Amino acid sequence: MEVEIHASLEKLARDMKLALDREELRSKVARIALEVGIDGKVGKTLIVGCGMSSVELRGGIGGNCIVYHFDPASAQENEIRHELMHISDELNPAFMYDMAYDTLAIEVVRKVTDRETPLSRLLCELWNVNLDARLRGEGISRDRRFAYFQYFLKIDYGLPIQVSKEIFEKLWTDRLIPYPELVQIADEVWAEALRSQR
Ligand SMILES: [Zn+2]
Repeated sequence: MEVEIHASLEKLARDMKLALDREELRSKVARIALEVGIDGKVGKTLIVGCGMSSVELRGGIGGNCIVYHFDPASAQENEIRHELMHISDELNPAFMYDMAYDTLAIEVVRKVTDRETPLSRLLCELWNVNLDARLRGEGISRDRRFAYFQYFLKIDYGLPIQVSKEIFEKLWTDRLIPYPELVQIADEVWAEALRSQR
């Protein structure tokens, strides 16, 4: 798997006056790709820089994309593992991922704002929760994921914390929730959000 470092990450490192060890980063990504079983199954992985961790870009199996950031408070290895697990899920037949939804990472970088809708962001967030649950502490921690989840559902969808807690509990399970089921849950949450905005 080819690992490419995007200019945005170089710029971020310069802006923050931080040293970027390219080789170390490349080998880290390659090692985790092997660990999650996607090595040899994907083409290029592009590592882009971003000031915050909540932004997420995903690519297809032809070209993947990791958002890397320098926030020392976060476990960077776990962030990388989280992103690569999306790819692993996409490749897993049991996940029943809709490949038609997918685009190449490079295209995503360019078009992410046009492509994103409240429903697609919601869907991605539901997937994030189930994915991190399955990573059992080797992805984003439960506390951090829940803090973001309830904030996200409150601010962007107007849902009370109690409601987001119920949805979260349903998703935080060792069971792989297939993509079509995530779509269905997203539709329900969306309908609930529309009701509570009235
Ligand atoms: Zn994610």
